[in-house]
Amino acid sequence: MSDDGAVRTFSTVPGNESPERMPCPVCGTKDSSLLLRIPGAVFERCRSCKVVFQNPRSSQEELNQRYGREYFEYELENESQFYRLMQLALHDIGFFPHIDRRESASGEFLDVGCATGMLLESLADRGWSVQGVEVCRESAEYGAQTRGVPIHAGTLESAAFSARRFTVVHASHLIEHLTDPVGFVEELYRIVIPGGYLILTTPNIGGLQARLLGERWRSAIADHIVLFRKYTLKQLVERAGFRTERIKTWGGLAAGAGPRFLKEILDRLVKPVGIGDVMVLLARRPPEEGENEYAGRGFTFRNARRRVRFEAHR
Ligand SMILES: [Zn+2]
Repeated sequence: MSDDGAVRTFSTVPGNESPERMPCPVCGTKDSSLLLRIPGAVFERCRSCKVVFQNPRSSQEELNQRYGREYFEYELENESQFYRLMQLALHDIGFFPHIDRRESASGEFLDVGCATGMLLESLADRGWSVQGVEVCRESAEYGAQTRGVPIHAGTLESAAFSARRFTVVHASHLIEHLTDPVGFVEELYRIVIPGGYLILTTPNIGGLQARLLGERWRSAIADHIVLFRKYTLKQLVERAGFRTERIKTWGGLAAGAGPRFLKEILDRLVKPVGIGDVMVLLARRPPEEGENEYAGRGFTFRNARRRVRFEAHR
């Protein structure tokens, strides 16, 4: 981490992989146009559903090999910072009672891409049953051993959870790394209870920074396979059956990318307009007919507080 608190975005440059041209990972259309070219990757935009994706790209199996020892060290070094950012995103989306107020809850919370398990540990301390999934074996083992939280080392698919198990499913900065975001969201829909919640955090290619910086945007990196904006992310989760409840964005200027006063102005500006650099989406699997709106497991999502700590978001 640098002095100004900026965290370098981890990225590898692909080595022994065999990237292939693929149809759009969201709608399957083969009609896409060049958008960005960076070292080790080319991004195209689907002419049909407008999602941005790497093309050609490596297979998920090849991509998963990128998350080894070096990735674990990066995650470990930055875990407190990432945890703090996740807390702020969860505040923004209204999931704060159990973060802030130590109210006890009894739901089951799944964190996919949980890294070293800091969020899981804090939720477990607040009464949640927790479960993690992490493809980086070193991170998964470290989290399970040092924090005592259950973490499946592997993918969501290989965890093969039973249907309708989780109250909340959460994935922060994960979906942009996946070759099959549709299958991923469908699997989350299967394992969340009717009336339960989905929370996704991912870079916003519709944000101010992406527009201004183009190929120098910090999220235009070889490890990101698919890049969403509010509209395309909403479309993705709704196709799987979720109902979008809210989307919040934050981050006007990356820390260190300009004078501090400018960052403060832009960070405040982008939030109400919804053109921040990162977005968090809250969606819900609709309750089933005959059931009441889901309630009673000890938590609710609330309107985010009026006063938001802008300074910590970038
Ligand atoms: Zn498409």
